[in-house]
This record gives sequence, C-alpha cells and structure tokens, in this order.
Amino acid sequence: MKAIRFHQHGGPEVLRYEDAPTPQPGPGEVLVGLRAAALNHLDLFTRKGDVPKVPLPHIGGADGAGVVAANGPGATRYPAGTRVFFDPGLSDGTCDYCARGEHSLCERWEILGEHRDGTYAQAVVIPEVNLRPIPEGLSFEEAAAFPLVFLTAWRMVVSKARVLPGETVLILGIGGGVALAALQIAKHMGARVLVTSSSQEKLDRARAMGADVLINHKATDFSKEVWGITEYSDQLKQASDQITIERQLPLSPLGPGKYKLEITATDQLNNQKISKTAEFTVKAAPEVKAAAYTTPGR
Ligand SMILES: [Zn+2]
Repeated sequence: MKAIRFHQHGGPEVLRYEDAPTPQPGPGEVLVGLRAAALNHLDLFTRKGDVPKVPLPHIGGADGAGVVAANGPGATRYPAGTRVFFDPGLSDGTCDYCARGEHSLCERWEILGEHRDGTYAQAVVIPEVNLRPIPEGLSFEEAAAFPLVFLTAWRMVVSKARVLPGETVLILGIGGGVALAALQIAKHMGARVLVTSSSQEKLDRARAMGADVLINHKATDFSKEVWGITEYSDQLKQASDQITIERQLPLSPLGPGKYKLEITATDQLNNQKISKTAEFTVKAAPEVKAAAYTTPGR
C-alpha cells in the first residue's frame, strides 16, 4: 500500500510518500481501507520526536475514517464495505483500569499513529471493539475529524467534570479542536458556556456555535470578567475547604460594583500563611457578599 512515513524525526521534510507493507488484521482486528484522515497536534509532536518510543519507520495519524476491507479471526461485527470510524485510543481491556471503565489510564495504553502505525496510509488495522459505524449524513472527512478531540473533551466535560444543565463552563482559548468540541458538548449538556480568545473572529465563530458569553482576553482581564458574571459562592466554598481563613476584613466598596477583599489565611495543603488583597467587580451576584461574610471563623 501507499503511506506517508518518516524514517527519522524532524520537520515536514522527513515525510515520505512511499510503499509500505499492508498490515494484516490479527484476531479481533479489522483492516480498514481509509478514505480520510485528520491532522492533530499529536501527529506533529510524534513526527518531531516530542513523544518517546515511536517505532521507526513510522506512519503517523490518530484519526481516520473509511470502509471495512477485511476482518481478522473472530471479528464479525462489521461486514466488508461498512463505513466506519474509530476510537484511536487502544487499551488491553484486561487491566484493573480497563475493568473500571478507565480505558485511557490502561497500563498498556497506546494511541494509533503514536505507538503503532496510524492513518496516513491507504489502510490501517484497528481492534474491532474500537470501531463504530459512521452515522448517515456524515462524510468520511467529518467522521475522521471527530474522534480524538471529541473523546478528549467528552472525558473532561462529562466523565470527569460531570457538567449538569444550568452549570457554567469556562473554556480558555476557544478555537482549537478540543476547545470547540468542549463547547459543543457543554451546550449539549445544557450548560452556560463562557469562552475566551484574543481573536474576535474565533469569538464570533464560537457565538455561532452556541457560546453564551464571549471574552476577549487581550482587551480585558478575563478572570475579573468571569468573577463578575458567575456566582462566586461555590468558588469561595471550594477555596475555603483548602484554606483556613483567619482574618477577613469586610468587603470594602471602591465604587459602583467594585470591592476590595483582604484575607489572611493558612493554606492547609502547603502549610503556608497567605495574605491577599484582591479587587474585583460584582456585576450580578450579591450572594458573593453573603458568602464572603460567612467564611471568617472557619
Ligand atoms: Zn487496560
């Protein structure tokens, strides 16, 4: 088959379009004839040599989509010709982490295109369990662009953060693949989404994709903006689980909606004294005052 390989690490000049052995599917594996592949930053890191243990010569590419060309022994779920895309994360399915459903923490975790040959070729071998049929209406190109960024964002937003309807999600630097996937997933979960960027074009695009609040972090201090438009009580509660506040002066007004907060505290994790003065703007959440006043004495 034809493939794009590199025999040594480096810039784009190390890439060679050349003949490579067509891989054969082993037990439980499927040979996929590729129709589209996507480029992620991971693929650049792999080519440059920023990730260890890349076998050489190497075919990069984590994401792809195509049709089933041949099934290995025991792989029966997808007949030849089925349009498929796949999870590029390869786990052994047998270790303790896999047993708990934490496949990305697998003791023998690999990613297609990094630890083994990937999708910049006419064909690739994938474990059958990683394959899914491409939904109607999705092109090969769209299907190939989907898995790595959406699986990463899904794990952050849904599996780990467990975002619920009505909660607020802040995405720093909207525009990259994972960030845009996180935006769409967070909206899908019913969250309010705040996004930041220094590019008005990227902010406008995020608005069109459902972002609720746009913050240009070149024009404004985004942390103050976020502080001003979210409900602070939860953040203060979280912070107070970790620090013991010994002395907190009442919020001093500095002007309309502006306050100064002075705190002396002990950071229990690092066993350090902290003395902080912060100025911030309150736009919509009077409960911050209530929350701030209830923490002294803890
Ligand atoms: Zn495992």
